[in-house]
Amino acid sequence: MIQLYQPLNFMGMVYREIKQAIIDIEKMFNVLGREAEIKDAPDAKPLVISAGTVRFEDVRFAYEPTRPILKGISFEVPAGKTIAIVGPSGAGKSTISRLLFRLYDVSGGKILIDGQDIRNVMQASLRASIGMVPQDTVLFNDTIRYNIRYGRWDASDAEVEEAARLAQIDHFIRMAPKGYETQVGERGLKLSGGEKQRVAIARTVLKAPPILVLDEATSALDTHTEHEIQGALDRVAKNRTSLVIAHRLSTIVGADEIIVLDQGRIAERGTHAKLLAQGGLYASMWNRQREAEAAREKLAKMADTS
Ligand code: ADP
Ligand code: MG
Repeated sequence: MIQLYQPLNFMGMVYREIKQAIIDIEKMFNVLGREAEIKDAPDAKPLVISAGTVRFEDVRFAYEPTRPILKGISFEVPAGKTIAIVGPSGAGKSTISRLLFRLYDVSGGKILIDGQDIRNVMQASLRASIGMVPQDTVLFNDTIRYNIRYGRWDASDAEVEEAARLAQIDHFIRMAPKGYETQVGERGLKLSGGEKQRVAIARTVLKAPPILVLDEATSALDTHTEHEIQGALDRVAKNRTSLVIAHRLSTIVGADEIIVLDQGRIAERGTHAKLLAQGGLYASMWNRQREAEAAREKLAKMADTS
């Protein structure tokens, strides 16, 4: 009896997740104002996550055929590990996250999750398994509660509020005219870039997906808030497969591997210590950021004493 019940229960769970993800995708494309370009293969199957290993194998990609953006990218995010991608603006970092979420198909090579080519699985199941905090978060013209619950529709009010608290946005929401029931958008609550990022982080905390993709998720936050939220993000990332695109290098020093992307190619890879010792692109990026921080601190001190 139990043996029969469990798979049925599991199927029910998978079905519910898929259904939600279909709603999500439709909404997402509505918001973006365009048709979904990528269609499921006729024989597409649900993605089955066993460990949650992500593999890029010689991935090539171009938005426009004449201008290659990714020129043969190979790496693996072992199950439960954190891989960071850093590099100059325009290197192709966000493109990597968009390809994993399958907003576009690769033009060469393949992307595998637990051995399954993501082109052969149902998109809904793929997106149900990935929690993505994008560089620019789009919010829905609905209540702030709805916008956070989007992470997981069956979450209770208390869970929504706890996620908001962890993302350091709870206080801001409570100050709004109708609190969590305040409408977001043109005629309602207007959110800054940093506040939108915190809503996206709250969604992801709530979703607690097996695979996490953070694309400069805290870039619009001040260092203090970033530090506060980092703890919540670290907790979500713990034992989950995480791909972290980092703006501030200080947030990824502990990554299992750091990949330095430059003009669509992997220029360097290794741990923080190894890359620093190597004295290449990563080391110079690191030194530049340290100098900028030191200069900021000095300015702040001068302002204090004047
Ligand atoms: P990064 O995140 O490293 O700053 P992106 O992956 O966003 O870089 O972009 C890599 C390159 O692809 C950039 O030169 C960018 O201008 C180009 N690009 C990004 N999105 C599009 C798009 N939708 N259409 C055409 N080119 C794009
Ligand atoms: Mg980017």
